[in-house]
Amino acid sequence: MTNQQLWQAVLGELELNLTKANFTTWFKNTAISFVDGEKVFVGVPNTFTKAWLENKYHQSILKTLQKIVGPQIKEVVYKVELVKPQAQKATVVTSTAPTASPKPAAAETTPNRFGLNPKYTFSNFVVGKNNELAHAAAQAVAKNPGKSTYNPLFIYGGVGLGKTHLLQAVGHAILEADPTKKVLYTTSEKFTNDYVQAIRNRTTERFKQTYRSPDLLMIDDVQFMAAKDGTQQEFFHTFNELHQADKQIVMTSDRPPKAIPALEQRLVSRFEWGMIADIFQPDYETRIAILKAKCAERNLVLDQTIISHIATVVQNNIRELEGALNKIIAYEQFQHAPLSLELVKKTLVNQVLSGRRSATPKQLINTVAEFYDLRLDDLLGQSREKRLAFPRQIIMYLMRKELESSYPAIGQEIGGRDHTTAMHAFTKISREVETNDRLKQEIEQIKQRLFNG
Ligand code: ADP
Ligand code: MG
Repeated sequence: MTNQQLWQAVLGELELNLTKANFTTWFKNTAISFVDGEKVFVGVPNTFTKAWLENKYHQSILKTLQKIVGPQIKEVVYKVELVKPQAQKATVVTSTAPTASPKPAAAETTPNRFGLNPKYTFSNFVVGKNNELAHAAAQAVAKNPGKSTYNPLFIYGGVGLGKTHLLQAVGHAILEADPTKKVLYTTSEKFTNDYVQAIRNRTTERFKQTYRSPDLLMIDDVQFMAAKDGTQQEFFHTFNELHQADKQIVMTSDRPPKAIPALEQRLVSRFEWGMIADIFQPDYETRIAILKAKCAERNLVLDQTIISHIATVVQNNIRELEGALNKIIAYEQFQHAPLSLELVKKTLVNQVLSGRRSATPKQLINTVAEFYDLRLDDLLGQSREKRLAFPRQIIMYLMRKELESSYPAIGQEIGGRDHTTAMHAFTKISREVETNDRLKQEIEQIKQRLFNG
């Protein structure tokens, strides 16, 4: 394993416990410069980042390194140095040379000149029950950009489920069919930053030119579209202009448009114009298929029992599945031990445990209220309307199952209800989850939001 692969494995782990904004802010343009016995030297872009990593993230970084490499790692030293930037710029480029032969191997994860990750193509995307709708919609859009009824295409789902992958696959496919097309991939954060910068530098014309000219605009994670009026207004105009010109817009988000806080109504309604497709958690069979595909990509042959074990213990999302795989590879290479089921089990113990995090009943209630877009008063009040009673039961179920609260405590928390009400809710939802896939997905999404902040 190279230093780069090691750092990727560490980042993969850290990312699970940080908000996206924090993760990008503090870990962008960092890298391991070298490893010297028990010391790991991490290159950082500036003193500010250095201070933050030292003060805030040092323990997590050290622990993660130890988990991957082994306890022999004792020290992490942060050094300011120029780390190759990860080409995060959103740039509109029209390709001049035909992109006939995409080069394989080398620099696999370095984004290409469109800011697209070369790995995120349709051919690398495993289709399962969890993503077939989104996948079909994405393909329809790629075949007939701007002209299908799927404009905009809005893909939503929890973290690490393949939204970015699918989004970029559309970009790749469109370029492949017609290399003269202009495609632009960006995130809502980047869009916001660019807009703020443009105002500051009085370059709003150029900003407009950039964002209103592509044939395909891909905006990742629109839930982070800043509540700042100006940005949303600008996005509103960008959207209208592209849409009117039959240019394709594809967006992703961790939740449906309606549930994005502080998103202007006129944007919500536009996001709902075209097609909304969700991606949910992969079932066991899909997880197996994905693991097999990832092994094939890495020329790695794993025993069936090992694959089944990983697919059994890692259930949350595909990024974690990949993380688990990377960790296993890392262990094998650092410890020079042959890959046995035992070793894999040992490696993944932490993975399973680290998946559990704590939350308070209040946080749980707020998360559910926000998820279903309900007012707290209503949710905790006396009304038995189904739109309130059902989410209320979900809260009680989750308090029992995830927070391990006692029934009387749950009743108390939910507007002073009797403990039998809590028991009933728990039994009812437990039973329903077994048979209702949709509900199961909703509950998983709530849990993700609750525990992943
Ligand atoms: P999201 O944007 O939903 O958080 P990503 O698109 O970043 O998730 O996916 C996380 C990782 O999982 C990526 O490396 C991606 O390639 C991989 N992945 C997700 N879904 C699939 C899939 N269906 N087939 C193959 N790889 C996938
Ligand atoms: Mg993403």
